[in-house]
Amino acid sequence: MSKIEDLARANVRQLTPYQSARRLGGSGDVWLNANEYPLAVPFDLRQQTLNRYPECQPKAVIERYAAYAGLSPEQVLVSRGADEGIELLMRAFCEPGKDAVLFCPPTYGMYSVSAETLGVEYRTVPAQEGWQLNLSAIAEKLDGVKLVYVCSPNNPTGNLVKPEAIRQLLEMTRGKALVIADEAYIEFCPTATLTGWLKEYPHLVILRTLSKAFALAGLRCGFTLANAEVIALLLKVIAPYPLSTPVADIAAQALSEQGVALMKEHVGELLATRDKLISDLRDCRCVEKVFPSETNYVLARFTDSALVFKTLWDQGIILRDQNKQPGLAGCLRISVGTAEECDRVISALQKLSGASASMEQA
Ligand code: PMP
Repeated sequence: MSKIEDLARANVRQLTPYQSARRLGGSGDVWLNANEYPLAVPFDLRQQTLNRYPECQPKAVIERYAAYAGLSPEQVLVSRGADEGIELLMRAFCEPGKDAVLFCPPTYGMYSVSAETLGVEYRTVPAQEGWQLNLSAIAEKLDGVKLVYVCSPNNPTGNLVKPEAIRQLLEMTRGKALVIADEAYIEFCPTATLTGWLKEYPHLVILRTLSKAFALAGLRCGFTLANAEVIALLLKVIAPYPLSTPVADIAAQALSEQGVALMKEHVGELLATRDKLISDLRDCRCVEKVFPSETNYVLARFTDSALVFKTLWDQGIILRDQNKQPGLAGCLRISVGTAEECDRVISALQKLSGASASMEQA
């Protein structure tokens, strides 16, 4: 008799699941490790007909997102978070054991986890200076690649990928592969969106979410934007009821004129808090470098990141360790919380800096 584990697919046995902030645990009261919006937005539960199955692609949600993104409804797919979009693309375009996907670390962890789960090969081309695309190295590795994931602004580094480089990538992949621009954080730098390029590039795909600027990470609702032909293929592989009725109900409210206006107001406030956090961090002695950010999180390199992480953790301030990402030794990622939460971080760091300064003197 074989063990149940031996019955599982080999790639699943070897799989390390995505280490989400929730899975990592902790018992804090200042949660700055998942790039969530720090405050909940109000909503009503209007749909009471839970005896019925929901629509596969709820019309109101699709139409409102299309209007918000400046696209037509045929160019929009809604799913259980952008994470489901990442995986649907692989399921629709990649033959396990034959095709590959490519991405450029340090970047978002779900591209590799989805590929591993599905048994699809993934190739990596480390980002170069300023976390930009290494186009010549990508060109050399494109053989057999069906999907190239480009996260811009990038998680966890916070920078935008230069649009000229993405354009070159699109030229390089035309007729061969799709380019997936992950715009999960685009509301924090809205002018950088590539939605305007969909007309020119039939193989461009854009991922979006309500989890960040819309303050609805718990809702699990994301969008894939692409030309109608790509969306039609994804609709073949999506679950019959990817969104529950309450999710569609709340998503439609978030995408109302009022909902979008509230999101923009929140973004304005958050950016001011972020810029203050960046300048306060730069004044802390235990901080070696603070990287610029186009997002709702800040990446910083510390003189002793393990000590900082643990000391703040013990005070209930939970940050995200990035030491295991290539090129990010000594780095922690801090989501921008409320002004008060950011002040808690800074005063904890100042105490640490003070302690290490007095140790140096001793
Ligand atoms: N892409 C990036 C870059 C992200 O950081 C995240 C969320 N951590 C996602 C996609 C997934 O978002 P969602 O919550 O919509 O699944």
